[in-house]
Amino acid sequence: FNIPQPYNEPVKNYAPGSQERASLQKKYQELKQEKIEIPMVIDNTAHHSQDIREVRCPHDHQHVLATFHHASTQDAQKAIDSCLNARKKWSTTPFHHRASIFLKAAELISTKYRDVLNAATMLGQSKTCHQAEIDAACEFIDFLRFNVKYAEQIYQDQPISSQGIWNCLEYRPLEGFVLAITPFNFTAIAGNLCIAPAMMGNVILWKPSPKSIFSSHFLMQILQEAGLPKGVINMLPADGAEFVQEVIKSRHLSGIHFTGSTSVFRAIWKAVGNNIDLYDSYPRIVGETGGKDFMFVHKSANVQAVATAMIRGAFEFQGQKCSAASRAYIPQSMWSQLKDILTAEVPTIKVGDVEDFSNFMGAVIDDLSYQKISGYIDRAKKAEDCEVLVGGNCDNSKGYFVEPTILVTQNPQYETMVQEIFGPVLTVYVYADDKYEETLELCGSTSEYGLTGGIFASDIYAVETAYENLRDSAGNFYINDKVTGAVVGQQPFGGGRGSGTNDKAGSYLNLIRWVSPRSIKQAF
Ligand code: GLU
Repeated sequence: FNIPQPYNEPVKNYAPGSQERASLQKKYQELKQEKIEIPMVIDNTAHHSQDIREVRCPHDHQHVLATFHHASTQDAQKAIDSCLNARKKWSTTPFHHRASIFLKAAELISTKYRDVLNAATMLGQSKTCHQAEIDAACEFIDFLRFNVKYAEQIYQDQPISSQGIWNCLEYRPLEGFVLAITPFNFTAIAGNLCIAPAMMGNVILWKPSPKSIFSSHFLMQILQEAGLPKGVINMLPADGAEFVQEVIKSRHLSGIHFTGSTSVFRAIWKAVGNNIDLYDSYPRIVGETGGKDFMFVHKSANVQAVATAMIRGAFEFQGQKCSAASRAYIPQSMWSQLKDILTAEVPTIKVGDVEDFSNFMGAVIDDLSYQKISGYIDRAKKAEDCEVLVGGNCDNSKGYFVEPTILVTQNPQYETMVQEIFGPVLTVYVYADDKYEETLELCGSTSEYGLTGGIFASDIYAVETAYENLRDSAGNFYINDKVTGAVVGQQPFGGGRGSGTNDKAGSYLNLIRWVSPRSIKQAF
Protein backbone atom coordinates (compact mmCIF):
# COMPACT_ATOMS: atom_id res chain seq x y z
CA PHE A 1 0.00 0.00 0.00
CA ASN A 2 3.05 2.22 0.41
CA ILE A 3 1.69 4.06 3.44
CA PRO A 4 3.88 6.80 4.97
CA GLN A 5 6.36 5.52 7.54
CA PRO A 6 4.81 6.27 10.97
CA TYR A 7 6.81 8.16 13.58
CA ASN A 8 6.11 9.35 17.11
CA GLU A 9 4.94 12.92 17.26
CA PRO A 10 7.70 15.06 18.83
CA VAL A 11 6.65 16.40 22.25
CA LYS A 12 6.59 20.20 22.58
CA ASN A 13 7.93 21.54 25.85
CA TYR A 14 6.03 24.83 26.32
CA ALA A 15 9.09 26.50 27.86
CA PRO A 16 8.52 29.77 29.73
CA GLY A 17 8.57 32.69 27.29
CA SER A 18 8.10 30.44 24.24
CA GLN A 19 5.68 31.23 21.47
CA GLU A 20 4.06 27.79 21.89
CA ARG A 21 3.33 28.50 25.55
CA ALA A 22 1.78 31.88 24.75
CA SER A 23 -0.38 30.35 22.07
CA LEU A 24 -1.64 27.54 24.33
CA GLN A 25 -2.32 29.99 27.16
CA LYS A 26 -4.36 32.13 24.82
CA LYS A 27 -6.45 29.18 23.64
CA TYR A 28 -6.95 28.07 27.24
CA GLN A 29 -8.35 31.48 28.21
CA GLU A 30 -10.62 31.57 25.16
CA LEU A 31 -12.08 28.14 25.81
CA LYS A 32 -12.48 28.86 29.50
CA GLN A 33 -14.82 31.75 28.71
CA GLU A 34 -16.69 30.34 25.75
CA LYS A 35 -19.34 28.24 27.57
CA ILE A 36 -20.02 26.02 24.61
CA GLU A 37 -22.98 23.70 24.30
CA ILE A 38 -21.94 20.16 23.42
CA PRO A 39 -24.42 18.20 21.33
CA MET A 40 -24.63 14.50 20.67
CA VAL A 41 -23.36 13.65 17.20
CA ILE A 42 -25.37 11.28 15.02
CA ASP A 43 -24.71 11.15 11.27
CA ASN A 44 -22.13 13.93 11.69
CA THR A 45 -25.00 16.18 12.77
CA ALA A 46 -25.60 17.85 16.11
CA HIS A 47 -28.46 16.27 18.05
CA HIS A 48 -30.04 17.73 21.14
CA SER A 49 -31.75 16.14 24.11
CA GLN A 50 -33.98 17.38 26.93
CA ASP A 51 -31.37 16.32 29.44
CA ILE A 52 -28.76 19.09 29.52
CA ARG A 53 -25.96 18.85 32.07
CA GLU A 54 -23.04 20.97 33.19
CA VAL A 55 -19.34 20.43 32.62
CA ARG A 56 -17.13 21.89 35.33
CA CYS A 57 -13.38 22.38 35.78
CA PRO A 58 -11.95 19.89 38.28
CA HIS A 59 -9.45 22.51 39.50
CA ASP A 60 -12.13 25.21 39.79
CA HIS A 61 -15.39 23.40 40.41
CA GLN A 62 -17.54 26.51 40.55
CA HIS A 63 -16.57 27.31 37.00
CA VAL A 64 -19.05 25.96 34.46
CA LEU A 65 -17.09 25.27 31.30
CA ALA A 66 -19.85 24.00 29.05
CA THR A 67 -23.09 22.12 28.94
CA PHE A 68 -23.68 18.83 27.17
CA HIS A 69 -26.67 16.97 25.88
CA HIS A 70 -27.00 13.68 27.70
CA ALA A 71 -28.12 10.80 25.50
CA SER A 72 -31.18 8.68 26.16
CA THR A 73 -31.81 5.09 25.10
CA GLN A 74 -33.96 6.41 22.21
CA ASP A 75 -30.95 8.38 21.01
CA ALA A 76 -28.96 5.17 21.18
CA GLN A 77 -31.41 3.51 18.82
CA LYS A 78 -31.00 6.37 16.33
CA ALA A 79 -27.24 6.04 16.59
CA ILE A 80 -27.36 2.29 16.00
CA ASP A 81 -29.48 2.84 12.88
CA SER A 82 -27.01 5.44 11.69
CA CYS A 83 -24.10 3.06 12.28
CA LEU A 84 -25.76 0.25 10.36
CA ASN A 85 -26.50 2.57 7.47
CA ALA A 86 -22.95 3.85 7.36
CA ARG A 87 -21.58 0.33 7.53
CA LYS A 88 -22.84 -0.52 4.05
CA LYS A 89 -20.30 1.83 2.49
CA TRP A 90 -17.59 2.07 5.15
CA SER A 91 -17.08 -1.68 5.37
CA THR A 92 -16.05 -1.76 1.71
CA THR A 93 -14.28 1.60 1.55
CA PRO A 94 -10.72 0.86 0.38
CA PHE A 95 -8.04 0.74 3.04
CA HIS A 96 -6.04 3.61 1.56
CA HIS A 97 -9.13 5.83 1.68
CA ARG A 98 -9.83 5.02 5.35
CA ALA A 99 -6.15 5.45 6.14
CA SER A 100 -6.03 8.86 4.52
CA ILE A 101 -8.80 10.13 6.81
CA PHE A 102 -6.95 9.10 9.96
CA LEU A 103 -3.62 10.38 8.67
CA LYS A 104 -5.27 13.68 7.87
CA ALA A 105 -6.71 13.86 11.39
CA ALA A 106 -3.17 13.33 12.75
CA GLU A 107 -1.92 16.17 10.57
CA LEU A 108 -4.77 18.46 11.60
CA ILE A 109 -3.98 17.96 15.28
CA SER A 110 -0.25 18.32 14.74
CA THR A 111 -0.52 21.58 12.84
CA LYS A 112 -3.88 23.22 13.45
CA TYR A 113 -5.83 21.90 16.44
CA ARG A 114 -3.08 21.01 18.88
CA ASP A 115 -3.79 23.99 21.12
CA VAL A 116 -7.52 23.46 21.19
CA LEU A 117 -7.27 19.76 22.03
CA ASN A 118 -4.61 20.39 24.66
CA ALA A 119 -6.48 23.33 26.21
CA ALA A 120 -9.72 21.32 26.34
CA THR A 121 -7.89 18.45 28.04
CA MET A 122 -6.35 20.87 30.55
CA LEU A 123 -9.65 22.56 31.36
CA GLY A 124 -11.91 19.53 31.37
CA GLN A 125 -9.59 16.90 32.86
CA SER A 126 -7.25 19.16 34.86
CA LYS A 127 -4.13 18.03 33.08
CA THR A 128 -1.06 20.24 33.11
CA CYS A 129 0.15 21.50 29.74
CA HIS A 130 2.80 18.76 29.63
CA GLN A 131 0.32 16.02 30.51
CA ALA A 132 -2.12 17.30 27.89
CA GLU A 133 0.61 17.48 25.25
CA ILE A 134 1.71 13.90 25.92
CA ASP A 135 -1.86 12.62 25.91
CA ALA A 136 -4.18 14.62 23.66
CA ALA A 137 -1.63 15.73 21.10
CA CYS A 138 1.18 13.18 20.88
CA GLU A 139 -0.42 9.92 21.96
CA PHE A 140 -3.55 10.45 19.95
CA ILE A 141 -1.57 11.44 16.85
CA ASP A 142 0.57 8.33 17.36
CA PHE A 143 -2.50 6.10 17.54
CA LEU A 144 -3.82 7.65 14.34
CA ARG A 145 -0.55 7.11 12.48
CA PHE A 146 0.47 3.74 13.85
CA ASN A 147 -2.97 2.13 13.50
CA VAL A 148 -2.62 2.64 9.76
CA LYS A 149 0.66 0.74 9.82
CA TYR A 150 -0.83 -2.09 11.91
CA ALA A 151 -3.82 -2.38 9.59
CA GLU A 152 -1.44 -2.66 6.65
CA GLN A 153 0.50 -5.35 8.50
CA ILE A 154 -2.71 -7.33 9.06
CA TYR A 155 -3.93 -7.00 5.48
CA GLN A 156 -0.58 -8.18 4.16
CA ASP A 157 -0.66 -11.41 6.17
CA GLN A 158 -1.97 -13.88 3.61
CA PRO A 159 -2.07 -17.68 3.34
CA ILE A 160 -0.02 -19.58 0.76
CA SER A 161 -1.46 -20.75 -2.53
CA SER A 162 -0.59 -23.77 -4.62
CA GLN A 163 -0.78 -24.84 -8.23
CA GLY A 164 -4.24 -24.20 -9.62
CA ILE A 165 -5.40 -22.74 -6.33
CA TRP A 166 -5.45 -19.17 -5.10
CA ASN A 167 -6.08 -18.65 -1.36
CA CYS A 168 -6.61 -15.34 0.27
CA LEU A 169 -7.94 -13.78 3.45
CA GLU A 170 -10.30 -10.91 3.14
CA TYR A 171 -10.13 -9.00 6.41
CA ARG A 172 -13.78 -8.03 6.81
CA PRO A 173 -14.91 -5.77 9.64
CA LEU A 174 -17.28 -7.24 12.21
CA GLU A 175 -20.91 -7.48 11.23
CA GLY A 176 -22.91 -4.93 13.21
CA PHE A 177 -21.60 -2.03 15.29
CA VAL A 178 -18.92 -1.66 17.95
CA LEU A 179 -19.73 0.06 21.24
CA ALA A 180 -16.77 2.15 22.47
CA ILE A 181 -17.02 2.99 26.17
CA THR A 182 -14.25 5.41 26.95
CA PRO A 183 -12.60 6.70 30.14
CA PHE A 184 -11.98 10.23 31.37
CA ASN A 185 -8.30 9.82 32.09
CA PHE A 186 -6.87 9.89 28.57
CA THR A 187 -8.12 11.88 25.60
CA ALA A 188 -5.97 9.64 23.41
CA ILE A 189 -7.49 6.44 24.78
CA ALA A 190 -11.01 7.79 24.28
CA GLY A 191 -10.10 8.51 20.68
CA ASN A 192 -8.29 5.25 20.08
CA LEU A 193 -11.13 3.08 21.35
CA CYS A 194 -13.12 4.50 18.43
CA ILE A 195 -10.53 4.87 15.70
CA ALA A 196 -8.93 1.42 16.12
CA PRO A 197 -12.11 -0.50 15.15
CA ALA A 198 -13.02 2.23 12.63
CA MET A 199 -9.62 1.81 10.96
CA MET A 200 -10.57 -1.81 10.24
CA GLY A 201 -13.87 -0.76 8.62
CA ASN A 202 -16.17 -0.95 11.65
CA VAL A 203 -18.83 1.55 12.67
CA ILE A 204 -18.89 2.85 16.21
CA LEU A 205 -21.38 3.97 18.81
CA TRP A 206 -19.14 6.04 21.06
CA LYS A 207 -20.17 6.57 24.67
CA PRO A 208 -17.55 9.01 26.00
CA SER A 209 -17.32 9.60 29.72
CA PRO A 210 -19.25 12.77 30.59
CA LYS A 211 -16.27 13.65 32.82
CA SER A 212 -14.11 14.27 29.77
CA ILE A 213 -16.77 15.29 27.29
CA PHE A 214 -15.10 18.68 26.78
CA SER A 215 -12.08 17.21 24.97
CA SER A 216 -14.16 14.45 23.32
CA HIS A 217 -16.27 17.13 21.67
CA PHE A 218 -13.25 18.70 19.94
CA LEU A 219 -11.83 15.32 19.04
CA MET A 220 -15.06 14.41 17.29
CA GLN A 221 -15.03 17.68 15.36
CA ILE A 222 -11.47 17.04 14.16
CA LEU A 223 -12.37 13.56 12.90
CA GLN A 224 -15.31 15.04 11.01
CA GLU A 225 -13.12 17.72 9.44
CA ALA A 226 -10.64 15.03 8.42
CA GLY A 227 -13.39 13.50 6.30
CA LEU A 228 -14.91 10.77 8.46
CA PRO A 229 -18.18 9.86 6.71
CA LYS A 230 -21.41 10.30 8.61
CA GLY A 231 -22.43 7.47 10.90
CA VAL A 232 -18.99 5.87 11.15
CA ILE A 233 -18.57 7.26 14.67
CA ASN A 234 -21.67 8.49 16.50
CA MET A 235 -20.97 10.24 19.80
CA LEU A 236 -23.48 9.87 22.62
CA PRO A 237 -22.35 11.16 26.01
CA ALA A 238 -24.13 9.26 28.76
CA ASP A 239 -23.66 8.34 32.37
CA GLY A 240 -24.29 5.13 34.16
CA ALA A 241 -25.16 1.56 33.52
CA GLU A 242 -28.72 1.95 32.25
CA PHE A 243 -27.70 3.39 28.87
CA VAL A 244 -25.08 0.71 28.27
CA GLN A 245 -27.38 -2.09 29.40
CA GLU A 246 -29.91 -0.94 26.82
CA VAL A 247 -27.41 -0.62 23.97
CA ILE A 248 -26.00 -4.08 24.53
CA LYS A 249 -29.43 -5.58 24.01
CA SER A 250 -29.13 -4.79 20.31
CA ARG A 251 -28.82 -7.89 18.15
CA HIS A 252 -26.35 -5.91 16.02
CA LEU A 253 -23.80 -5.50 18.80
CA SER A 254 -20.61 -6.94 17.32
CA GLY A 255 -18.02 -5.71 19.78
CA ILE A 256 -17.24 -3.67 22.85
CA HIS A 257 -14.06 -1.62 23.17
CA PHE A 258 -13.78 -0.59 26.77
CA THR A 259 -11.42 1.20 29.13
CA GLY A 260 -12.61 1.85 32.66
CA SER A 261 -13.13 0.17 35.97
CA THR A 262 -12.89 -3.56 36.56
CA SER A 263 -16.32 -3.73 38.20
CA VAL A 264 -18.09 -1.99 35.30
CA PHE A 265 -16.30 -4.21 32.77
CA ARG A 266 -17.36 -7.33 34.64
CA ALA A 267 -20.97 -6.14 34.83
CA ILE A 268 -20.97 -5.53 31.07
CA TRP A 269 -19.41 -8.92 30.34
CA LYS A 270 -22.03 -10.65 32.49
CA ALA A 271 -24.85 -8.77 30.76
CA VAL A 272 -23.48 -9.73 27.34
CA GLY A 273 -23.39 -13.32 28.54
CA ASN A 274 -27.00 -13.13 29.63
CA ASN A 275 -28.01 -11.61 26.30
CA ILE A 276 -26.04 -14.05 24.19
CA ASP A 277 -29.08 -15.54 22.47
CA LEU A 278 -30.08 -12.10 21.21
CA TYR A 279 -27.05 -11.48 19.04
CA ASP A 280 -26.45 -12.18 15.37
CA SER A 281 -22.79 -12.88 16.16
CA TYR A 282 -20.69 -13.33 19.30
CA PRO A 283 -19.60 -9.85 20.36
CA ARG A 284 -15.86 -9.31 20.72
CA ILE A 285 -15.12 -7.93 24.14
CA VAL A 286 -11.89 -6.00 24.50
CA GLY A 287 -11.20 -4.18 27.72
CA GLU A 288 -8.51 -2.48 29.71
CA THR A 289 -9.48 -2.09 33.34
CA GLY A 290 -7.71 -1.52 36.65
CA GLY A 291 -4.21 -1.87 37.95
CA LYS A 292 -2.25 -2.15 41.17
CA ASP A 293 1.09 -1.49 39.63
CA PHE A 294 4.30 -2.28 41.47
CA MET A 295 7.89 -1.14 41.64
CA PHE A 296 10.14 -3.82 43.00
CA VAL A 297 13.55 -2.62 44.13
CA HIS A 298 16.67 -4.72 44.74
CA LYS A 299 19.47 -3.52 46.98
CA SER A 300 21.78 -3.18 43.94
CA ALA A 301 19.59 -0.45 42.41
CA ASN A 302 20.58 3.18 42.06
CA VAL A 303 18.71 4.94 44.85
CA GLN A 304 18.24 8.29 43.08
CA ALA A 305 16.88 6.54 39.98
CA VAL A 306 14.45 4.65 42.20
CA ALA A 307 13.23 7.85 43.86
CA THR A 308 12.71 9.58 40.52
CA ALA A 309 10.79 6.63 39.10
CA MET A 310 8.61 6.47 42.20
CA ILE A 311 7.76 10.15 42.01
CA ARG A 312 7.11 10.21 38.29
CA GLY A 313 5.33 6.85 38.19
CA ALA A 314 3.04 7.64 41.11
CA PHE A 315 2.31 11.35 40.81
CA GLU A 316 2.46 12.40 37.17
CA PHE A 317 -1.06 12.70 35.77
CA GLN A 318 -2.28 12.95 39.40
CA GLY A 319 -1.86 9.19 39.62
CA GLN A 320 -4.98 8.82 37.47
CA LYS A 321 -3.47 6.19 35.23
CA CYS A 322 -4.20 2.49 35.26
CA SER A 323 -0.44 2.12 34.99
CA ALA A 324 0.45 4.41 37.92
CA ALA A 325 2.98 3.08 40.45
CA SER A 326 0.95 2.44 43.56
CA ARG A 327 2.94 -0.06 45.61
CA ALA A 328 6.70 -0.25 46.08
CA TYR A 329 8.82 -3.01 47.62
CA ILE A 330 11.99 -1.52 49.05
CA PRO A 331 14.97 -3.36 50.62
CA GLN A 332 15.70 -2.47 54.24
CA SER A 333 19.30 -1.47 53.47
CA MET A 334 18.17 1.21 51.01
CA TRP A 335 15.20 2.55 52.89
CA SER A 336 16.78 5.19 55.09
CA GLN A 337 18.59 6.86 52.19
CA LEU A 338 15.56 6.61 49.89
CA LYS A 339 13.28 7.96 52.61
CA ASP A 340 15.50 11.04 52.96
CA ILE A 341 15.32 11.73 49.23
CA LEU A 342 11.53 11.24 49.09
CA THR A 343 10.82 13.38 52.15
CA ALA A 344 13.00 16.12 50.67
CA GLU A 345 11.69 15.99 47.09
CA VAL A 346 7.98 15.15 47.30
CA PRO A 347 6.98 18.30 49.25
CA THR A 348 8.53 20.42 46.49
CA ILE A 349 6.03 19.09 43.93
CA LYS A 350 3.71 21.90 42.93
CA VAL A 351 0.02 21.03 42.87
CA GLY A 352 -2.62 23.50 41.71
CA ASP A 353 -4.63 25.15 38.99
CA VAL A 354 -3.31 24.02 35.59
CA GLU A 355 -3.68 27.58 34.34
CA ASP A 356 -0.36 28.12 36.13
CA PHE A 357 1.98 26.25 33.78
CA SER A 358 4.57 25.72 36.51
CA ASN A 359 2.37 23.26 38.42
CA PHE A 360 3.42 19.62 38.19
CA MET A 361 0.01 18.24 39.14
CA GLY A 362 -3.56 19.41 38.64
CA ALA A 363 -6.72 18.32 40.44
CA VAL A 364 -8.27 14.86 40.43
CA ILE A 365 -11.28 14.53 38.18
CA ASP A 366 -14.30 15.00 40.45
CA ASP A 367 -15.73 14.84 43.94
CA LEU A 368 -16.30 11.09 43.78
CA SER A 369 -12.61 10.47 43.05
CA TYR A 370 -11.60 13.04 45.64
CA GLN A 371 -13.70 11.36 48.33
CA LYS A 372 -12.39 7.93 47.45
CA ILE A 373 -8.73 8.98 47.47
CA SER A 374 -8.96 11.14 50.58
CA GLY A 375 -10.82 8.28 52.27
CA TYR A 376 -7.81 6.01 51.79
CA ILE A 377 -5.51 8.71 53.15
CA ASP A 378 -7.73 9.40 56.19
CA ARG A 379 -7.92 5.73 57.06
CA ALA A 380 -4.13 5.41 56.69
CA LYS A 381 -3.64 8.27 59.16
CA LYS A 382 -5.60 6.33 61.77
CA ALA A 383 -4.41 2.82 60.94
CA GLU A 384 -2.09 0.96 63.28
CA ASP A 385 -0.24 -0.77 60.49
CA CYS A 386 0.27 2.24 58.22
CA GLU A 387 1.72 5.74 58.44
CA VAL A 388 1.90 8.77 56.20
CA LEU A 389 5.52 9.42 55.25
CA VAL A 390 4.91 12.53 53.20
CA GLY A 391 1.90 14.47 51.86
CA GLY A 392 -1.55 13.47 53.04
CA ASN A 393 -3.32 16.83 52.77
CA CYS A 394 -6.40 17.21 50.64
CA ASP A 395 -8.36 20.35 49.83
CA ASN A 396 -11.56 20.51 47.79
CA SER A 397 -12.57 24.08 48.57
CA LYS A 398 -11.80 25.36 45.05
CA GLY A 399 -10.73 22.27 43.11
CA TYR A 400 -10.25 18.60 43.93
CA PHE A 401 -6.63 18.77 45.05
CA VAL A 402 -4.80 15.87 46.64
CA GLU A 403 -1.18 16.20 47.72
CA PRO A 404 1.24 13.59 46.39
CA THR A 405 1.24 11.11 49.25
CA ILE A 406 3.53 8.27 50.29
CA LEU A 407 2.33 5.76 52.86
CA VAL A 408 4.50 3.17 54.57
CA THR A 409 3.17 -0.11 55.88
CA GLN A 410 4.56 -3.27 57.38
CA ASN A 411 1.46 -5.16 56.33
CA PRO A 412 1.87 -6.34 52.71
CA GLN A 413 -1.91 -6.90 52.55
CA TYR A 414 -2.80 -3.42 53.85
CA GLU A 415 -5.67 -2.05 51.76
CA THR A 416 -3.54 0.45 49.82
CA MET A 417 -1.10 -2.35 48.88
CA VAL A 418 -3.96 -4.31 47.31
CA GLN A 419 -6.77 -2.06 46.09
CA GLU A 420 -6.68 0.35 43.17
CA ILE A 421 -6.90 3.97 44.37
CA PHE A 422 -6.56 5.85 41.05
CA GLY A 423 -4.97 8.88 42.64
CA PRO A 424 -1.58 10.19 43.76
CA VAL A 425 -0.96 7.72 46.60
CA LEU A 426 1.99 5.33 46.70
CA THR A 427 2.44 2.75 49.45
CA VAL A 428 5.86 1.44 50.45
CA TYR A 429 6.53 -1.96 51.99
CA VAL A 430 10.04 -2.43 53.35
CA TYR A 431 11.46 -5.98 53.18
CA ALA A 432 14.53 -7.64 54.66
CA ASP A 433 17.34 -7.78 52.06
CA ASP A 434 17.78 -11.54 52.47
CA LYS A 435 14.08 -12.14 51.70
CA TYR A 436 14.33 -11.03 48.07
CA GLU A 437 12.86 -14.17 46.45
CA GLU A 438 10.08 -14.56 49.04
CA THR A 439 9.10 -10.93 48.64
CA LEU A 440 8.96 -11.32 44.86
CA GLU A 441 6.50 -14.18 45.39
CA LEU A 442 4.51 -12.01 47.74
CA CYS A 443 4.40 -9.18 45.20
CA GLY A 444 3.24 -11.54 42.46
CA SER A 445 0.44 -13.03 44.54
CA THR A 446 -0.79 -9.88 46.28
CA SER A 447 -2.92 -8.31 43.59
CA GLU A 448 -5.81 -9.41 41.42
CA TYR A 449 -4.41 -7.16 38.68
CA GLY A 450 -1.66 -7.62 36.12
CA LEU A 451 -1.08 -4.36 34.30
CA THR A 452 2.33 -2.76 34.87
CA GLY A 453 5.25 -3.43 37.13
CA GLY A 454 8.98 -3.06 37.21
CA ILE A 455 12.24 -4.20 38.73
CA PHE A 456 15.02 -1.85 39.73
CA ALA A 457 18.43 -3.55 40.07
CA SER A 458 21.92 -3.44 38.64
CA ASP A 459 22.56 -7.07 39.63
CA ILE A 460 21.60 -9.18 36.62
CA TYR A 461 20.65 -12.17 38.79
CA ALA A 462 18.14 -9.97 40.62
CA VAL A 463 16.70 -8.77 37.30
CA GLU A 464 16.39 -12.33 35.96
CA THR A 465 14.74 -13.60 39.13
CA ALA A 466 12.15 -10.83 39.06
CA TYR A 467 11.57 -11.35 35.35
CA GLU A 468 10.94 -15.08 35.95
CA ASN A 469 8.82 -14.72 39.08
CA LEU A 470 6.57 -11.92 37.92
CA ARG A 471 5.64 -13.26 34.48
CA ASP A 472 1.88 -13.01 34.94
CA SER A 473 1.90 -9.97 37.17
CA ALA A 474 2.45 -7.28 34.56
CA GLY A 475 1.50 -7.05 30.89
CA ASN A 476 3.96 -4.16 30.71
CA PHE A 477 7.16 -4.98 32.56
CA TYR A 478 9.84 -2.34 33.03
CA ILE A 479 13.49 -2.90 33.93
CA ASN A 480 15.11 0.11 35.60
CA ASP A 481 12.43 2.53 34.47
CA LYS A 482 9.20 3.98 35.76
CA VAL A 483 6.12 1.81 35.17
CA THR A 484 4.12 4.41 33.24
CA GLY A 485 4.30 6.18 29.92
CA ALA A 486 3.98 3.39 27.36
CA VAL A 487 4.53 4.93 23.92
CA VAL A 488 2.47 3.87 20.89
CA GLY A 489 4.63 1.92 18.48
CA GLN A 490 7.21 1.26 21.21
CA GLN A 491 5.58 -0.49 24.18
CA PRO A 492 2.24 -2.09 23.22
CA PHE A 493 0.04 -1.55 26.28
CA GLY A 494 -2.24 -3.77 28.33
CA GLY A 495 -2.34 -6.45 30.98
CA GLY A 496 -4.01 -9.68 31.96
CA ARG A 497 -5.69 -10.94 35.13
CA GLY A 498 -8.19 -8.39 36.46
CA SER A 499 -6.55 -5.66 34.33
CA GLY A 500 -8.15 -6.61 31.06
CA THR A 501 -8.11 -8.77 28.00
CA ASN A 502 -4.55 -7.67 27.16
CA ASP A 503 -5.26 -6.89 23.54
CA LYS A 504 -2.37 -4.45 23.51
CA ALA A 505 -3.36 -0.92 22.56
CA GLY A 506 -0.85 0.56 20.15
CA SER A 507 -0.19 -2.68 18.27
CA TYR A 508 -1.66 -4.91 15.56
CA LEU A 509 -2.84 -7.23 18.38
CA ASN A 510 -5.60 -4.76 19.14
CA LEU A 511 -6.60 -4.10 15.55
CA ILE A 512 -6.83 -7.79 14.77
CA ARG A 513 -9.73 -8.06 17.23
CA TRP A 514 -11.82 -5.87 14.95
CA VAL A 515 -11.86 -8.12 11.91
CA SER A 516 -13.86 -11.18 10.97
CA PRO A 517 -11.85 -12.55 8.06
CA ARG A 518 -13.34 -14.34 5.08
CA SER A 519 -11.13 -17.12 3.76
CA ILE A 520 -11.42 -17.45 0.01
CA LYS A 521 -10.22 -20.40 -2.07
CA GLN A 522 -10.41 -20.17 -5.80
CA ALA A 523 -9.69 -23.16 -8.02
CA PHE A 524 -8.59 -22.43 -11.58
N1 GLU B 1 -0.72 4.06 28.43
C1 GLU B 1 -0.59 4.72 29.67
C2 GLU B 1 0.75 4.51 30.29
O1 GLU B 1 1.47 3.61 29.94
C3 GLU B 1 -1.62 4.37 30.67
C4 GLU B 1 -2.98 4.27 30.17
C5 GLU B 1 -4.03 4.18 31.22
O2 GLU B 1 -3.91 4.71 32.30
O3 GLU B 1 -5.06 3.58 30.91
O4 GLU B 1 1.11 5.24 31.15
